[in-house]
Amino acid sequence: MTTKNQETITGDISVHTGNILPIIKKWLYSEQDIFLRELISNAHDAILKRQKIALKENLGTVEGCINITLNAEKKTLTLSDNGLGMDSDEIQKYINQIAFSGAEEFVKKYEDKKDAGNIIGHFGLGFYSAFMAADQVEIESRSYREDAQAINWKCDGGTKFEITPSEKQTVGTDIILHLNTESEKYLKNDLVETLIKKYDNFLPVEIQVEGKKINDQNPLWVKNPTDVTDEDYKVFYQTLFPFSQEPLFWIHLNVDFPFNLKGILYFPKLQSEMDFNKGQVKLFCRQVFVTDNSKEVLPEFLSLLKGAIDCPDIPLNVSRSYLQQDAYVQKISKHIVKKIAEKLTSLFKNDRENFEKYWEDIHPFIKYGMMQDTEFYEKVKDITLFKTASNTMTTLAEYLERNKTEKVVYASDKQTQAAYISACQQQGLEVLILDNYIDTHFIQFLESKDSKIKYQAVDNSLSEAIEEKAEVTPKETDEKLTSFFKEALGKDLKIEIKPLKTQELSALIVEAEFSKRLKSMSVMMKGDFSQLPTDETLILNQNSPIITKIDALAQAGNTEDATLLAQYVYDLALLSQKPLTGEQMQAFIARSNKVLGKL
Ligand code: ADP
Repeated sequence: MTTKNQETITGDISVHTGNILPIIKKWLYSEQDIFLRELISNAHDAILKRQKIALKENLGTVEGCINITLNAEKKTLTLSDNGLGMDSDEIQKYINQIAFSGAEEFVKKYEDKKDAGNIIGHFGLGFYSAFMAADQVEIESRSYREDAQAINWKCDGGTKFEITPSEKQTVGTDIILHLNTESEKYLKNDLVETLIKKYDNFLPVEIQVEGKKINDQNPLWVKNPTDVTDEDYKVFYQTLFPFSQEPLFWIHLNVDFPFNLKGILYFPKLQSEMDFNKGQVKLFCRQVFVTDNSKEVLPEFLSLLKGAIDCPDIPLNVSRSYLQQDAYVQKISKHIVKKIAEKLTSLFKNDRENFEKYWEDIHPFIKYGMMQDTEFYEKVKDITLFKTASNTMTTLAEYLERNKTEKVVYASDKQTQAAYISACQQQGLEVLILDNYIDTHFIQFLESKDSKIKYQAVDNSLSEAIEEKAEVTPKETDEKLTSFFKEALGKDLKIEIKPLKTQELSALIVEAEFSKRLKSMSVMMKGDFSQLPTDETLILNQNSPIITKIDALAQAGNTEDATLLAQYVYDLALLSQKPLTGEQMQAFIARSNKVLGKL
């Protein structure tokens, strides 16, 4: 670089704390890479400003470009832009005065904190992040103004700077970083490209590394949804999340009023319930990456979502606490929830077949959301689906209408309770399968919302379905049979004898609805439920020929056979309730052999 015999300006960078730069370096070390984003962001701003001026003053269009060049020999990384540039006065005004007061106070307050992004943005220190990677920084700039003198600014990380005239011919700014020893890794194209892909992959201005264009200036979310095909959405999903399974469906957000928001949110296919929290929505501000951690922008129940949202009104450097408190963020969150409810409703109405398929993956979140958010509940309650025991899907209204009832019969385990389910179906009642860990809470919640509709477990429903015209047996006869059973089983359990509508079941064990739910919820909370009182009753089916037989055997004095059969009937009742323990299974097999031997 030649310096002509023109005026050289030297001076002090105006900060209140003399050693601010070393402190910046130290604090920001953990997020050293962000210097690149900060410098690109400044370059981008400068280009936008120049384009605005060109438009206003009819100077023709300026195609913006940011180019990064690496010089291994000189150990420099140079970031060049063709933005509006700066002259000597501007440099002194914008660069030399780190614009904040009370620097010392600020230093003390943040010394222990690593919230680097926040500090940088807050105090307009973006440019100075260059010193995180460089011992010396130079600015070569030429203002867009016609008679402007190009200048060179140099600073070695202290508070001293030097401005000399430069021969730079083109309008724009080069930021030249003389990399420090630890930062020589930034001389590698690969790393620089990776970082740009992370932060600035979707910047609306072209970015080149050594002349090679590496960004996508038009991410899918800026396009008009009507111009985008399903294939485009799927490809874009892979760009954001390489090697992911195809998403189920997506929502394209495109809001101009009352606030600005664009983005695409995908419902991913979940591998397991463990994927609950694997969602990831990248937050952008005018196509510049801000954070991966946009949990604050989405309500918790949508933490499965993946995608990108662009909120131009969110500052580039945000802290989590900022996001949590901000009223604007709350509005965005509400809007997203509303859009999701609308999307689900439209799928339900226009593409029920697929909606039913997706339901398997998304229902825990929808249910959780309904319990968390009343507005969401109101919007989706009529499209909430339930799986029936015969593998169809139904809404609550459809179910009640078909079954002409206000009672919903459900099974929590389709395999184990198969006999009960089938008995219920024979009585003309459809059984819903509610076997997800969230379902007990969910039915509890639904009952609280609409107390007219009661949810009843399949065994309880069966035990209530009694034949009306059954002859009433004398009380003493019943008492004899129950005490015989208590003796045969060797325990003092509650026993009732009822003329059930079905003949196929000899006995069943029922448990009051509340106690069933309490148990299931405490299992979900991983609690110890051995202490919970159980409220089980053994129902003996008066209409079952086996019960009649046991009664007859007992009365005839054949206690041995009656006892064997009574125990066997109890085994069967247990089997339909939950899987047997090893010990129970052993006893059951032994008894089966004995019973078979009697034939
Ligand atoms: P901020 O960007 O938050 O204002 P910076 O320290 O990053 O703080 O930059 C200070 C100012 O320097 C900018 O506002 C801008 O006026 C000027 N500036 C920085 N980089 C460039 C550039 N590449 N081209 C033109 N002006 C720039």
